[in-house]
Formats: sequence, structure tokens, C-alpha cells
Amino acid sequence: HDTLLSVRNLKTHFALDQGLVKAVDGASFDVRRGKTLCVVGESGCGKSVTARSILQIVDRPGRVVGGQLLFRKPGRGPGGQEEVVDLATMNPKGADIRSIRGRDIAMIFQEPMSSLSPVHTIGNQIVEAVHLHENVSKQAAKDRAVDVLQKVGVPKPKQRFDSYPFQLSGGLRQRAMIAMALVCNPTLLIADEPTTALDVTTQAQILELMRELQDDYGMAIMFITHDLGVVAELADDVVVMYLGLAVERGDVVSVFHDPQHPYTRALLRAIPKVGGGTRARLDTIRGMVPDPYNRPDGCPFHNRCDDYMPGSCDRVVPPPIDLADDRQVRCLLHGGADDVVPGNGEVR
Ligand code: SF4
Ligand code: MG
Repeated sequence: HDTLLSVRNLKTHFALDQGLVKAVDGASFDVRRGKTLCVVGESGCGKSVTARSILQIVDRPGRVVGGQLLFRKPGRGPGGQEEVVDLATMNPKGADIRSIRGRDIAMIFQEPMSSLSPVHTIGNQIVEAVHLHENVSKQAAKDRAVDVLQKVGVPKPKQRFDSYPFQLSGGLRQRAMIAMALVCNPTLLIADEPTTALDVTTQAQILELMRELQDDYGMAIMFITHDLGVVAELADDVVVMYLGLAVERGDVVSVFHDPQHPYTRALLRAIPKVGGGTRARLDTIRGMVPDPYNRPDGCPFHNRCDDYMPGSCDRVVPPPIDLADDRQVRCLLHGGADDVVPGNGEVR
């Protein structure tokens, strides 16, 4: 089967004193085996929360409150059968998710020190990551650690094994974090803006490394970014998020070539032409992202949308509409507003 992870109508909410924040409120997409899915959107759109929901590591008081996270968990041992499990129903502290987290699904972050301990050598941390999931000898784990450090391009891995994170450059720390994530050979690697804090050259090297590692290890990658340039370089598939909703998804070539959601179009317009110099940030679209405590009724994009239809867009949350070529879009221009009579005098 081609699909490794199927996210269906995911909802992750935060019950805060100030009110309920629906950080993710209807995200659906698939991650294909051995392929790269990029999740793109402005900060606060729910992309990191979506990633953390998959591993059940959402910060409190956030909680997965709805939807499905269907993951094809690899079989273990001789004759072990692959099985489909729903990560959304797992207890965040339970044994089920702990047997998957860091093993079948690993995650890397923008800041390597969020996974690396400052007081242990990187080698011992990688060895510990192996021992958390596998019953192998200390020497075997050590050999694997040195091997994976070499694979991620850490020079002199045998010596670096005994380095502390503070003794490494930012780029090498990032590589050490990636090594730790890969040492158990996950089928899915989730990367949450791992290059955002790096200088342009190091960023390019890490992206190149991700591509090489995918070829070597064959894992699927879910790559979270706000940078459409990164999407263009890495993605097979893309999902565009806006205010907790997955508004458009499909294979990257067709989405970039022929965007169907007004938000995707605006994002793509915000990229300067090739050779035009610096990459644009996504916040060049007019208007502000609405306050998450005060989500607008209807389509969350309606206060910024050039195609806004009063009477519909401010009243109906656009349902997912399937398009040709396995694409999906949530915009009333494509349907879903049939039950609304525009201008029928209803006060919103
Ligand atoms: Fe724009 Fe309406 Fe489509 Fe939302 S539903 S993106 S407001 S046209
Ligand atoms: Mg984030």
C-alpha cells in the first residue's frame, strides 16, 4: 500500500483560560511511503501542532479531540505483520505511542537542543536512543551511532562520538540531531522547520542531506515549513494550511502550476521571480491572520480573500472538495455552498 500515514479531519484544541483555541480544526492529508510531504503555511496556522499531534506530544493543555491518524505500523521480528493503528486514540503517555515515537516515527526540530541534552555526549545520546527501542549490545549500538553520524556527514565520527553538543557548530548539531532521529530507521521522519534558524549555505546543505538520506533509508518525510522555496526543492506532495484548516493539497507540480485555492495563489504570488533576490516571507499577503481566539465564521480566509462572496464565505466553513488528480481544496468557489442563498437577509 502506497499510503503510510493518513490524517483525516484532525482536530487539536487548546482549552485556555482566555478561550478555546482550535489550533487544528480539520486537517486531512496523506503521507506516501518513501515520499516527501511538505506542510506549508504562515506561523500560527497549526502546522507544528499537526506534527506534534501525530506523535501525541502536543503541549498541554492542547489535546487531539477528533479525527483519525491512521499509521501503517511496520511488523516486528520474524513474520511480524504490518498493522494499521490510529495514533489519535492513543494515550500520550501510554506504551502504544511510546513504542512508535522515536522508532517508527521520529521528529527533528528547528532547535537541536530541544532533542539533545547539553550534559551528555552526542554518541551516548544516540546509543541511548537505540537502547530505548532495541535490545542490542552496547558495542553494536555504538557501531550504529558512529555509522549514522558518518551518514549524516559528521566528519571524523569516531572522535565526534565523544563531543558534547556545545562543542559543535550549529550545522553539526543539526546533523547530530538528525542522526539520533534516524538511528532506529524510522519509516516516517517529521521535520519541523529544521533549517529555519540556519544560514543560507548550511540550510542548503541540510536540505541536500535530507534528499540523500531519503534515498539511502527510504523513509517518508513530513517537512513543515513557511518557505515555498523549500517546498519547491523538497516536496513530492504539498498541503497548504490556514488557521487550522488544510485548505489545499495535491502533488507539488500541479499545485504550484495550477493553484486552486485563493490563499495558495496569494502565497505563490508573494514569491519573487527567479533571480529576483531574497525570498519573500509569506506575510506579504494583504490583511492580518485573524486572532485564533476569535476565529471568523465561515471560511477562515474570508477577511483577506480577493474572491470573497458575502453571504456564503462568511457563513459556511468550506468542506473538502475532491478535484481531479487526487487533489483537494476547501473553497466555496469549488462547491459546498449549495445550501446557502446569498443575500437572504440572514444576519451573521
Ligand atoms: Fe475565498 Fe470564499 Fe474560497 Fe474562502 S471560500 S477562499 S473566502 S472564495
Ligand atoms: Mg511552528
